[in-house]
Amino acid sequence: MNLIIMGLPGAGKGTQAEKIIDTYGIPHISTGDMFRDAMKNETKLGLEAKAFIEKGELVPDDVTNGIVKDRLAQADTEKGFLLDGFPRTLAQAEELDKIIEELGKKIDVVLNIHVEPEVLVERLAGRFICKTCGATYHKMYNPPKVEGTCDRCGGHEFYQREDDKPETVKNRLAVNIKNTEPILAYYENQKLISAVDGNRDINLVFEDIKKILDESK
Ligand SMILES: [Zn+2]
Repeated sequence: MNLIIMGLPGAGKGTQAEKIIDTYGIPHISTGDMFRDAMKNETKLGLEAKAFIEKGELVPDDVTNGIVKDRLAQADTEKGFLLDGFPRTLAQAEELDKIIEELGKKIDVVLNIHVEPEVLVERLAGRFICKTCGATYHKMYNPPKVEGTCDRCGGHEFYQREDDKPETVKNRLAVNIKNTEPILAYYENQKLISAVDGNRDINLVFEDIKKILDESK
């Protein structure tokens, strides 16, 4: 079962990816891990990627694609894989099709964990921190027991990190939506997309995913 998992930041992609690999025994192939392994093992492409990263430059697509191909050719992907964080662009999606074909494989399902952006802003932008002791809270999921008072130190002053501010979160999501739209359309065309409503209990979301995957076998 060869899978791609997609979803905006905060949609719960990571949590569901873990459940999928535990249940189906396929390797989780995330871009970050792939790069780390290639660099650690000092493969030819790993060393090339390292040179770009050390210079603070973006790794060019042909190097990234080569690393993906090396990874997907490894023996542990025989029963399948879960790709996470790749493809990131339409060009990479097209290249992935070539790679997959060369390896004699095919993509079975592209899971899209969907949560409305407004809900994601609530999820992602709710974090705040106690100025005195650094305890972290979340407006919805983990508020202080007494509003405006830190549970740990009794402090009353809080702040939000730049990354956790609603405007920053909104911008980050907008960029993500713009980048993923053409990729989703590309897989929609190939009838590979299975959308999952991610705005529910984690276990219910996974029940849906299991249904989709078991039917695709
Ligand atoms: Zn505190």
